[in-house]
Amino acid sequence: MLVWACSTLLNLWRDVADIVHPVFYPFIPYWTIIMTALFITPVTILIPQYLQGKLSWPSKKDAPDVWTIYGKRYNLKPFLKQHPGGSWQLRACKGSDCTGLFESCHTFIDGALLLKMAAQFEIKDDGVMASLPPMVFSDPFYDDLKAMAREHFRGQAKGSHKMTWPHLVLSLSALGLYWVLIYQMTMRSSLWCIPFVGCLSWYLTGNMMHDASHNALMSTPWLNRLFSHAAFPYGVNVSAWHIQHILSHHIYTNDDTDVDLYHFDPVITMEKGAGSLPLWLHFVRIVYLLSTAMQHLNVIAPYNLLFGAVDPAHGHRQYDRINSIKAHRFELRCEMILEMVAQVVFWAICGYFQGWLRALGFQMMVFAFSSYLFSFFTQISHLQEECFPDPKVKEQLPFAKRQVMSSTDFSADSAVWGHLSGGLNTQAIHQCLPSVSAMHLRALYPKFREVCIKHGVELKEAHSLSSFLWGFISFSN
Ligand SMILES: [Zn+2]
Repeated sequence: MLVWACSTLLNLWRDVADIVHPVFYPFIPYWTIIMTALFITPVTILIPQYLQGKLSWPSKKDAPDVWTIYGKRYNLKPFLKQHPGGSWQLRACKGSDCTGLFESCHTFIDGALLLKMAAQFEIKDDGVMASLPPMVFSDPFYDDLKAMAREHFRGQAKGSHKMTWPHLVLSLSALGLYWVLIYQMTMRSSLWCIPFVGCLSWYLTGNMMHDASHNALMSTPWLNRLFSHAAFPYGVNVSAWHIQHILSHHIYTNDDTDVDLYHFDPVITMEKGAGSLPLWLHFVRIVYLLSTAMQHLNVIAPYNLLFGAVDPAHGHRQYDRINSIKAHRFELRCEMILEMVAQVVFWAICGYFQGWLRALGFQMMVFAFSSYLFSFFTQISHLQEECFPDPKVKEQLPFAKRQVMSSTDFSADSAVWGHLSGGLNTQAIHQCLPSVSAMHLRALYPKFREVCIKHGVELKEAHSLSSFLWGFISFSN
């Protein structure tokens, strides 16, 4: 029996080693554990929790037709189809306090006028008291930032703050090349395509998907919806990402309700001064964990959001620290399922043409490339010691100042980094003005610096790339 088991394992290892590039050999045990754990969760977690009544499937009563803005409750259901930014953006935040989204998404529109127009939808007579906004969203600093952005685009065509045509053509070309390489990789099992597909997946995530999910790519809402899937099949699950990035991270950056702080719970908790491991061991842990960051966002997060299973390791449901998570889960559940089905169909096609083991090996390698790039550009600038001020100081500050305080930028004047990162080397300004396409942020940055200086807001810029990276590694321990 033992001999049989050993020889089976040896043969499996030979098969896997034949498929996976030697660079990834050290990852094979970790990836095997992750994939096995994922495949057996229906038996080990879902069914037992279902029998114990612990699963939480989102239901309609969790998402009332209420949108709260500045302490007033509105029923915007009749306005969904007329919303110039598309019904999707409005629907996604149903059942929650949307004051932060209202302020940060309407940089180029008169907010007071919008509130006047919204008055017809106000709910006044149901006896329910609306909660006050979770922080101050409007202050002189933010007003000046918005005025700076409006001034920058003054006299230009409507929608000029969206992606520029040259950049759009470049991004669409990258999208075309991406699919040519995916075809070559899948049909001919070409190993050399893997790093290119992984890098292009990040390029499309940073330059198209991210802008599109902020409605900053184009002026037409359905095109933004379409191109938010530009990095499929190696990008994130866009609906789960919307909950994570737009509804949580962008408003509550580095607060307890920012999901980016507990993605890797319970293995890593982003907490100031946790210091749980010798640094070299922590570095190894980071290298392994981040190799599967995209699989987490592509598969595990939507899977857990749909079923609402409790993670036995730390007792939380996916993103359950977000105030209105049940409403978001209910409202976006259909899209999440459709995206997951599309993903599974793609994997089935790969498995059919490549063989299941080879297909799995190829997927893991591509995801490793996209995971490292995604983590580097999207997470590191917020996860630095200096981005976590004293909570008592922070809670006194208005939204825009918190955003600047919670970000560290690098090489803000570099066109190359601006391009490769999809503008995320200038997170501080992106966090304040998410409706401006990333491609304009470099040009806006000198003016942004001036406004920060005028209001005494400290703008954090890393001295070098190594200090930027090192800051993340030491903080995340
Ligand atoms: Zn963003």
